[in-house]
Amino acid sequence: ADSFDNLSGGFKKAWDKLSGVQQLTQENIKDPLKDIRRALLEADVSLPVVRQFVKKVESKAVGTKVIRGIRPDQQLIKFVKDELLDLMGSERAPLEDPTRRGEPQVILMAGLQGVGKTTACGKLALHLKKQGKTVQMIATDVYRPAAIDQLRKLGEQVDVPVFEMGTSAKPADIARRGIQEAKKKKVDCVIVDTAGRLQIDDDMMTELKNVKKAVKPSDTLLVVDAMTGQEASSLVKSFNTDIGITGAILTKMDGDTRGGAALTVKEISGRPIKFVGVGEKMEALEPFYPERMVSRILG
Ligand code: GDP
Repeated sequence: ADSFDNLSGGFKKAWDKLSGVQQLTQENIKDPLKDIRRALLEADVSLPVVRQFVKKVESKAVGTKVIRGIRPDQQLIKFVKDELLDLMGSERAPLEDPTRRGEPQVILMAGLQGVGKTTACGKLALHLKKQGKTVQMIATDVYRPAAIDQLRKLGEQVDVPVFEMGTSAKPADIARRGIQEAKKKKVDCVIVDTAGRLQIDDDMMTELKNVKKAVKPSDTLLVVDAMTGQEASSLVKSFNTDIGITGAILTKMDGDTRGGAALTVKEISGRPIKFVGVGEKMEALEPFYPERMVSRILG
């Protein structure tokens, strides 16, 4: 089953209520809008995002003259489709182009522990390598030796060197030295893995800020687990406010996600989802195509 089946099914209830209706009115749109609202909430889309969404669809629905030849239910589908695209961005968003001559393109990875951040580093390294770029990774998670080992192993898998200084140096210093090394070796892209915590805390944010200052990334990507529920909104807001992100990687999209985080990231941060993780293997990373996602949702 597709993970968006529930959302699709919920939306369908809304269209079905308009069968046989001649024209959208304030009155007959009420129930369908409730279905849309319920479907989005059940998909774990954050409440403020849901409210805004329903309001926009409503104002379009009651403000639109009858369009000859287009059934009201089709009209509503179109309005919802437009809003979904608005939520996720209508085009795929590539990595920033740093255009700094002679300097590596630096991508900083941030996110809570367990979301798939380290895995995403390896995947992104492979993705960039396939584009013909030379890549280096930097391990700055000094709290968990296992995390450094993991990145080193992933590096071996995708044949990308990993810069590390063990667990006794400061993350920002490791990052700075790693970038120096990359410059010396004239590496095209550097991916900086960072330490995550189980929950947002000030120490983690301060450290991320320091690492960011040290490496001046062109992209700061927030790695988000697609299963994140209602709390996706506050998570994205905190990271974006504290360190500033340029986009997100949504992981575990192959799992039993209800879709909420996918619909929340851009509305909350103004920054797009750039990639999605669709499995544990290094090849399982895809650019994020909003249109395809909307097609999956609307069937
Ligand atoms: P980190 O703590 O954020 O660095 O998380 P890890 O990279 O160690 O990943 C945590 C777990 O999630 C590991 O078992 C990964 O194999 C798994 N994982 C990561 N990305 C994906 C994905 O896109 N799909 C699936 N199914 N599992 C993933």
